[in-house]
Amino acid sequence: MICPLCEYEYIEGVKTCADCGGNLIPVEEFEGNLLHPSDWTIIYTCDDPIEAEMLKANLDGAEIDSIIIPQKDRNFPSFGDLSVVKLLVKKTDAEEAIAIIKDINSANIDDEE
Ligand SMILES: [Zn+2]
Repeated sequence: MICPLCEYEYIEGVKTCADCGGNLIPVEEFEGNLLHPSDWTIIYTCDDPIEAEMLKANLDGAEIDSIIIPQKDRNFPSFGDLSVVKLLVKKTDAEEAIAIIKDINSANIDDEE
């Protein structure tokens, strides 16, 4: 497992980065993402990592691979909680993934009414 932000590797079983608290991803996924960045596209951004995790879980359920990347970049000092979380999927899955997220978000709005 590796932190996509810090690029620190962790042993199997560790879920979050000890340094930045970001979600770890499998090394193969990280390297795959780096090797073929053009295959991936940002389909959603939010400021709530829990929301991003929830959406990722739904995409996982639909057998769509996704990656969560925290915006917080070591090249830019972060101010408070202004970090943005990006959700990426493969371009080939983007249309389906966006439709799923739309469904989820409209369901959430219905719940609040
Ligand atoms: Zn980290």
